[in-house]
Formats: sequence, C-alpha cells, structure tokens
Amino acid sequence: MNTMLLNGISFTPTESPKQKPTGETKLGFGSIFTDHMFIMNYDEGEGWHNARIVPYGPFQLDPSAMCLHYGQEVFEGLKAYRGVDGVIRLFRPDENMKRLNLSNDRLCIPAVDEAFCVEAIKELVRIEKDWIPSSPDTSLYIRPFIFAVDPHVGVHPAKHLIYAVILSPVGAYYPEGLNPVKIFVENEYVRAVKGGMGFTKTAGNYAASLKAQEEAEKIGYTQVLWLDGVERKYIEEVGTMNVFFVLGDEVVTPALQGSILGGITRKSVIELLKAQGYKVTERPLLLQEVLDAAANGLLTEAFGSGTAAVISPIGELKNGTADSIVINNGRIGALSQRLYDQLTGIQWGKLPDSFGWTVRVD
Ligand SMILES: *Cc1c(COP(=O)(O)O)cnc(C)c1O
Repeated sequence: MNTMLLNGISFTPTESPKQKPTGETKLGFGSIFTDHMFIMNYDEGEGWHNARIVPYGPFQLDPSAMCLHYGQEVFEGLKAYRGVDGVIRLFRPDENMKRLNLSNDRLCIPAVDEAFCVEAIKELVRIEKDWIPSSPDTSLYIRPFIFAVDPHVGVHPAKHLIYAVILSPVGAYYPEGLNPVKIFVENEYVRAVKGGMGFTKTAGNYAASLKAQEEAEKIGYTQVLWLDGVERKYIEEVGTMNVFFVLGDEVVTPALQGSILGGITRKSVIELLKAQGYKVTERPLLLQEVLDAAANGLLTEAFGSGTAAVISPIGELKNGTADSIVINNGRIGALSQRLYDQLTGIQWGKLPDSFGWTVRVD
C-alpha cells in the first residue's frame, strides 16, 4: 500500500475502488458509503493522535468495548454540496465541530481540536470529490462520530476512543417538490428531559425516540411532535428537527433550555429572518398556545428545520383524539418556501453567501 502525508494526515488509498452509484435519483439516504474514511484515536496520556484516511471498512472491536454496553457515543451530521457553479461547499462546519465538543463534554469524551477536524473533513471530501452527486438537491452527507472502545464492562468514562468520519452520497430529500408532512403530537413517550442529554447528538437520544416514531408511522404520520418531559405541555422538537410556528406576525421557536438540540439550520433560520426584519422569538411555547392560535386563525405556517430536509413544512397536526389541525390548507407556506429557497440557494452557490456561512473545498 502506498501511504502519503496530506496536511499532517496520513492517507492510504484503497486498492479496490467501489463502483459509484449510477441513477442519482435513487440514492436515498445513508445506505451508500464512499471509498475512504477518516480515523483518529484517543488514548489516555497521548490525547487524540494517529490521524489517518484509510479505505472504508469494518472496525475491529472487543466484544466488551464500552460503547456497545453503555452508549458513550456522540455524532454530527453535515453535508458537502456541489454547487451549480461546480464549487464544492460545506455549510457552517465550524458550528458542527463546536456542537461536537458540547456533546463531548456532556458525555465525558475528551474534546477534539475543532479547526483540525474541519480541515480533516475538507481533506476527506477533497479525496472523495468524485462521489459528490451533481443532480439538483443531491449532496454528500458527512457523518463524524466518536465512540468508546475500552475493553471493559464497567460504567465509567472511557480512556480509549475512536473518532471517525464517513461519507454517503444522498439523493434529493424532496424528489417531488416540498411536501408538507403530517405530525402526531406525542403525549406518551418523551425524548429528553432537562439535565439529561437532549441538547447533544448522542446515540441514546435516538434509541429513546424509536418507539414513538414507529407508532406514529403505523397510524399514518411522518414524525412526532415532542413535548417537554415533565409537564408534557411545552413544545420541544419535531422528530429530529427543530420546529417553528408562525403565529400572527411572530415566528416562534422553542427556546434552547437543555432538552432541545440546538440545530445549525435553526440558528441559520433565526439569523436569516432577523436580517430580513421578521419578528423571531425563542421562548417557551405551550402546545395550547399553538392550538388556540389555530382555532383563532393566527397559526398560518409551521415547519421543521434540519440538515437533512433543510425546511420541512407541516401540513397537519394531530393531538390525541381531537380533530386534526390543518395548517395553510395542507400546502407549503410562503415563508417556508422562501427560507428553503434562501438556504439551499446559499448551499448550492445559487445565491450570494452574505453571511459567510459556506466553506469552499478546493
Ligand atoms: C441534528 C438534529 C437537529 C437539527 O440540527 P441541524 O444542525 O439543523 O441539522 C434537530 N433535532 C435533533 C434531535 C437532531 O438530532
């Protein structure tokens, strides 16, 4: 094997490149992976070290590896976009690395060097650039993650961990255009509580969400609307997205208070709307307030925000046995459409990036 050094990262190219997918319309999400991955190790006394890009392949783990038993794991999710101008861009990767360290801190995982991790992602994306699809609205999903590997069945913070980054070409999220989704208000299961891990991207939060998601799907809903874990009165998130409601002239999103994930799309939506003179408020939001607003004709739009879907308009809300609330006649609202166009416009290089959010991979 022919190993070389790229900006302090050793690179071992694969000897058997995979066949790249044809038909970009059928890419789906998260099932195809590129030829290489980034890895580094943490060992107590040495810190994070041995940064390398190697052929994509299985990890060898001891059956007692701590991540398999106690879930000491964190992850991130971002994308590389091939612009209409041919330029490859990342969207606010520094924010992902900042959030990774926030998750790390909560999970007793040693902090990573954020700037170095952004450079490592750029290096990996550069190597895999031919894997970035070019059809409209396709992208390369980037999944950084860290897991504990100490061979020890015991509950304590790990002294040995692996950080890895894998890449997956993904298809258009809305092949048929932006379609409003039906959301089920979850009154039984909760996702997270204050003092817990809701503000982090850690595996356990998603394990906690599976049952509610499965039950909602069974009765015809796409996602659930999570309520707070104590009073079950306040709105938190929708599925794995943050959520916004347009109530009269106010755009409201639940304030980050520990149990909600601080989305980078959420932050970007708030910044975009503020710059355009909208009244955007981050505050506690009672489900009852939204139900009342709907009854009074003040609820004009609702949408989720996240890296995968960007903006996901909500067309219907179902709360318990009450009649469904239909929002904007089940059609996408003007603001949702506009935010989607503006964010994707910046990401695919169709609009000027006046906020300096994108990072080029040349
Ligand atoms: C990742 C995620 C989001 C959205 O975050 P983005 O940074 O916008 O992708 C929202 N909620 C949950 C629970 C998430 O895991």
